Amino acid sequence: MTRGGTAALIVAAGQGMRTGGAVPKQFALLAGKPMIAHSYSALAAHPAISQVIVAIGPGQEDALAAALGDIAHVTGGATRRASVRAGLEALAGYEPDRVLIHDAARPFLTGPVIDRLLAALDTQEGAIPALPVADTLARGGETLGEIVPREGMYRVQTPQAFRFDAIFAAHKAWQGEEPTDDAQMLRASGGTVAIVEGDMMLEKITYPADFAAAEARHAAGMRVRSATGFDVHRLVEGEELWLGGVLIPHDKGLSGHSDADVALHAITDALLGTIADGDIGMHFPPSDPKWRGADSAQFLEHAASLVAAQGGIIDFIDLTLICEAPKIGPHRESMRTRIAALLRLKPNQVSVKATTTERLGFAGRGEGIAAQAIATIRISGDMA
Ligand code: MG
Repeated sequence: MTRGGTAALIVAAGQGMRTGGAVPKQFALLAGKPMIAHSYSALAAHPAISQVIVAIGPGQEDALAAALGDIAHVTGGATRRASVRAGLEALAGYEPDRVLIHDAARPFLTGPVIDRLLAALDTQEGAIPALPVADTLARGGETLGEIVPREGMYRVQTPQAFRFDAIFAAHKAWQGEEPTDDAQMLRASGGTVAIVEGDMMLEKITYPADFAAAEARHAAGMRVRSATGFDVHRLVEGEELWLGGVLIPHDKGLSGHSDADVALHAITDALLGTIADGDIGMHFPPSDPKWRGADSAQFLEHAASLVAAQGGIIDFIDLTLICEAPKIGPHRESMRTRIAALLRLKPNQVSVKATTTERLGFAGRGEGIAAQAIATIRISGDMA
């Protein structure tokens, strides 16, 4: 990291286990990924943030590596405050101007929240996301006590954003009881903290039931997208016929720079279409000798990884092959199984259909095979 700029620290040092699970909750699966991976991706992908570091608990190195690979981390202390302090000490060497301090237990962090926090730091030393309290608030024990006015009351979330020098000094000067968050430490040292609009998606995951609620909130924020792909290759003698990732016995094969598997090429383009990320020719230029005779399975897997990198989930693939010969029926199930395996789907999420063109046109004359595909995915509404 270059000096200056904005750093982010994720506190993920908790030892609390999800009921029935063997791993602390920040490493438990949520919406298809380890919980910590959601906020890590959001912070790492934000254009203003140049360094993300994670504070983990003692002995959690392997769990972190399994969740996120080899990334910058520090071992935290016995309390949240000590873990943040360890993270700030590690970041101090980079002299960042600003730092966001976030709890891994709030996984669904979006870019607009980060934008609001950083904008507030232009005029304040600290900024927090918060939501007004909507429920009636009351004191009580065994029986109900008096109502507490909720006007001016907020539910405080993370990430909390600070000018680095101010929050680092507040941590070094802290002497009181364990604080509940960093913003209170900045206030105690005389700093001012702005309140910006929080996000319902940032609700903290504390109890086992919160996992199900968070999954449901995440699912509700997903949008369906579909995109098409189309490809044609010439049928020639002396080539193997690869279709849908399966080698098919035939007197001709498809000709092209790669293995010319029109079916996988059409599906690859359909997947790239769902994230508006160009086409197969852009990612794997035919001019590049690296792709001569290439197994088209790697094109498909790469497109799937690009969808996954955007948080997309592939729901369904529908493929139509257009040819006079060979007959597709006998190979339909092996194609479905192969395509599903490449995309980590179940075979019932892949449809393979075939048609002729009544002997009309190039396909009807047996000069080539065409393929068209539709991919349907779900992706976060923020990406839509
Ligand atoms: Mg092609």
